[in-house]
Amino acid sequence: MKTYMVNEIFFSLQGEGVRAGTPNLFLRFLGCNVECQPNTHGFECDTDYTDGQPLRLDEIISMLRGVDPNCKWVVLTGGEPALQVDRELIDGLHDVGYQLAIETNGTIELPDGLDFITVSPKVAEDQIRQRTADEVKYVRVYGQPIPQTVVEADYKLISPAFKGPDLDRQALEWCIKLVRDNPDWRLSVQMHKFWGIR
Ligand code: SF4
Repeated sequence: MKTYMVNEIFFSLQGEGVRAGTPNLFLRFLGCNVECQPNTHGFECDTDYTDGQPLRLDEIISMLRGVDPNCKWVVLTGGEPALQVDRELIDGLHDVGYQLAIETNGTIELPDGLDFITVSPKVAEDQIRQRTADEVKYVRVYGQPIPQTVVEADYKLISPAFKGPDLDRQALEWCIKLVRDNPDWRLSVQMHKFWGIR
């Protein structure tokens, strides 16, 4: 029977984007097709997605329920969840009552049926394949211009880079200036890092 390589399943509040503050089950998939590093992206990936176990859909549902039987939103994340998320998974989770958000780098076109899509590009715009989203979110370091995004989204967000666990204040002030100069964009800060949660 089909399995998905899952890194971890846990409960937390969404810490960023327009859904910030909402309760969610996070389903983190193993693996990514991009390698974000300071010399290429201005920041280093802060997520460990390299270990995992193969799980069937029914095992995933059982684990989600075990973590929090009341929570009805699942955030599909990674790594890059689009490497594994398919209609079978989407339909199976919908069938048992979950709503599905996804956080993707946009390099792979997503299957239909997801309830909230966040594209957070980490590659050049011409390499982005998922070009529609509910929100599009870019990490910015000091001096980076406002993105010329190819993604059509209801909400366009910029997120100041962190230096390890600490917010880069210079990046924050730069992002505030960018939003002031480009009012169709808004600021998103990784609030979970301030809240002391995952
Ligand atoms: S695309 Fe996302 S998960 Fe992949 S290396 Fe970059 S920050 Fe990490």
